[in-house]
Amino acid sequence: AAPLVVAVSTSLSAKHGLLIRNRSNFEGARNLDAVVFDKTGTLTEGEFGITNIVPNQGYEEQEVLNWAASLEQHSEHPIATGIVKSARDEGISLKEIADFESITGKGIQGSIDNKKVNVVSPGYVNENGLSYDQKQFDKMSEQGKTVVFVLLDDAIAGMIALADIVRETAKEAIATLKKNGVHSIMLTGDNMKVANWVAKQLDIDEVYAEVLPDQKSDQVKKIMKDKEWKVAMTGDGINDAPALATADLGIAIGAGTDVAMETADVVLVKSNPKDVVSLIDLSKKTYRKMV
Ligand code: ADP
Ligand code: MG
Repeated sequence: AAPLVVAVSTSLSAKHGLLIRNRSNFEGARNLDAVVFDKTGTLTEGEFGITNIVPNQGYEEQEVLNWAASLEQHSEHPIATGIVKSARDEGISLKEIADFESITGKGIQGSIDNKKVNVVSPGYVNENGLSYDQKQFDKMSEQGKTVVFVLLDDAIAGMIALADIVRETAKEAIATLKKNGVHSIMLTGDNMKVANWVAKQLDIDEVYAEVLPDQKSDQVKKIMKDKEWKVAMTGDGINDAPALATADLGIAIGAGTDVAMETADVVLVKSNPKDVVSLIDLSKKTYRKMV
């Protein structure tokens, strides 16, 4: 009867918008203790819009936006897309960039008119001992806004705050997981204050923030080992791929990157976090049919 079971669960999975790439890992979903979620693009839409530009003394908002957008046009990060869109909407003409490079998990760098320009994370700014208006920064971060810093020759020219949209479906997914005794955990490269704000909106059990891309997989490994938990990882980005491979079950968001989808055991075709719940239910049903 095995082929029949496979056929039944294949059509059911298609109905729920699940693309099952690794059947045995999928079947293990019935025993999960926790689901780890990447933040940006998974729990949130991953579509940033600028909410505030805070120039340092001696700079104008438009200048800060122009440098940032000129640099970000070479990046594919969701923050970059938001900044470039704002500049285009304002009719700003972008500058030529030389020596573009990305600083993994921390931002980007390039030069404009022989000046070094960076758009970087709060972590990068802190590591380099640069000071800024902490009160203003805290206020924006505590509202769930992601703040990046625009640097000109290693001095801060201004801050740009961006807001993303938390997925309503993520909230429902987490509530159902909780009801079924499955823990939910957030893993993000973003700032702790922003992560905590999003976690509060969603009632997430645990938060790991300011995790660099190459640390995501180790963090998942640590959760599995320390708690002796069976863990699923859900993500969308290139950064998430190693963690998807490490987890007992890797789940990719359908609207995410090819790398994430190629690494995952299951792909959520409709990019709906609630399908994580459907997936667990389906694995239980499939199991009952087999025994
Ligand atoms: P996440 O885990 O939320 O997807 P990433 O690891 O991609 O986050 O990025 C972590 C942080 O690094 C971002 O929150 C941002 O502060 C900074 N960063 C990364 N790429 C860029 C970029 N292109 N422009 C500005 N900041 C960036
Ligand atoms: Mg992401």
